Amino acid sequence: MLNGSCLCGTVRYRIDGPIDSISHCHCSQCRKAHGAAYATYGHVRPADFHLLAGAESIGRYQASAHATRTFCRACGSNLQWIATGASDHFALALGTLDDDPLARPERHIFVGSKAPWSVIGDDLPRFDTYPGAREA
Ligand SMILES: [Zn+2]
Ligand SMILES: [Zn+2]
Repeated sequence: MLNGSCLCGTVRYRIDGPIDSISHCHCSQCRKAHGAAYATYGHVRPADFHLLAGAESIGRYQASAHATRTFCRACGSNLQWIATGASDHFALALGTLDDDPLARPERHIFVGSKAPWSVIGDDLPRFDTYPGAREA
């Protein structure tokens, strides 16, 4: 069981299940949304995710045709990246976890969009877009 919350504590959640496929995402949308060099997301099954408080404070932003991002309207913490049409999992912004998920990041994705001032300091696999992406 893992607990998480936004910066101001209005939104609180609990996860009763694994967090899989953790990626550091360097895409421009994650950089903008988080105001950071990259964002770290892991897959969570909706059935394992229980919102404990703050449902009415969660804002939704349709970031692209492919995804909706959710955030706390009070403090701005990013919470979820939800792929359009995907019902088996969503991506959770791992920085909102209060507990150790034990799983660890597996890769860097969208390294082709990396901020020029950001230096990757580990040996995890790096992908220009995402694993298995077809070349444009
Ligand atoms: Zn908040
Ligand atoms: Zn991203």
